[in-house]
Amino acid sequence: MKPTPRWPLHPAPREGEALSSWLNRVAACYRMDMHELLAHDLGHGQLDDLDIVPPSSLLMVLAQRSGVELERLREMSLAGWVPWLLDSLDDSLPAALETYAFQCSVLLPKRKARSITRWRAWLPSQPMRRACPLCLNDPANQAVLLVWQLPLMLSCPQHGCWLESYWGLPGRYLQWDNAEAAPRPANEAIACMDRRIWQALTTGFVELPRRRIHAGLWFRLLRTLLDELNTPLSHCGSSAGCIRQVWEHCGHPLRAGQSLWRPFEVLAPAAQVQMLEAAASAIALIESRALLPRGEQAALFLTEPPTGFTNGLPEKKPKPEPVNHWQRAVQAIKEAIIEARHNPETARSLFALASYERRDPESLERLRLTFANEGIPLEFLSHYDPCTPFVCLSQNDGLSDKF
Ligand SMILES: [Zn+2]
Repeated sequence: MKPTPRWPLHPAPREGEALSSWLNRVAACYRMDMHELLAHDLGHGQLDDLDIVPPSSLLMVLAQRSGVELERLREMSLAGWVPWLLDSLDDSLPAALETYAFQCSVLLPKRKARSITRWRAWLPSQPMRRACPLCLNDPANQAVLLVWQLPLMLSCPQHGCWLESYWGLPGRYLQWDNAEAAPRPANEAIACMDRRIWQALTTGFVELPRRRIHAGLWFRLLRTLLDELNTPLSHCGSSAGCIRQVWEHCGHPLRAGQSLWRPFEVLAPAAQVQMLEAAASAIALIESRALLPRGEQAALFLTEPPTGFTNGLPEKKPKPEPVNHWQRAVQAIKEAIIEARHNPETARSLFALASYERRDPESLERLRLTFANEGIPLEFLSHYDPCTPFVCLSQNDGLSDKF
């Protein structure tokens, strides 16, 4: 069979660019529109979900035509972001919302899990068209990022200005809803949250004040925070003041004016923006210690208490707090379980730790069942062989020395 010829012209995809955006830019090189390129050159009819789940046959042809690796092409659609950003693209999974947004806690120590049918994390009910006016100012590089199509970032990671709504097709005709779309700088709290989102999407981890966390945990923490901010105060117990303080600080009505609870993804775009602003405010308030929430993961946003400061007086050594190693170990294991639900490497390391010195198949099978009950996908463990030497939980924590 003859190999598919390369396109003589094709712009390189920008980091984070959506597949449809890149195909539009490729088509423009041949004075076609994307649908003509898909139909005449690639043999694919009109596709609506290019940026969600493109057919793998199309990705194969695109890889041959462009020389861009298949994995890179996959990451240009949401299917390539499973399971980091979302657990699944199947919206009929039972308990999907509980699994995603009710296992962590930041502002509220306890919440009653909500259950809804048909839900997918971060996918808005209506398509979103938002972009950075400065990025789209450059006519030679009008790439639309995939993340701009989700209610997730408020500002451009490169320019730090607000994303603005537009209609039209970048590169052909473009109209901004806000007539001039003069770039509006985002405040530091928003810019900081968005930098972390971008770090998670592009590197797979986020540096938080306490420690580095996996991108999968970061997105679940953020979604937890958004749901906590949307909890009626009557359900917040003694933490109601915490929720009120965040909303007052960011200057929007409580719960972005919602009276009935609905999941974040189906809220009107204006309410989603206010919720995201509140989430950014909450993080900034926690980090500056102006807010002291009681949620289990709130401490991730705090550095260790300051040490070594001086007021000019002779230093009085404080008595060291006794370290509760057991409590720390339990906390580390809890966090590892949350991370193992979407990180195969952590799942395998945790399994290695838990199965230490277990060799009989029955005992290992019972352990697998325990992992499954904790929501850790068993396929993550498929390459695990208990006879191989112990794999340490993390390069940094030195746990391996103890075994
Ligand atoms: Zn920009």
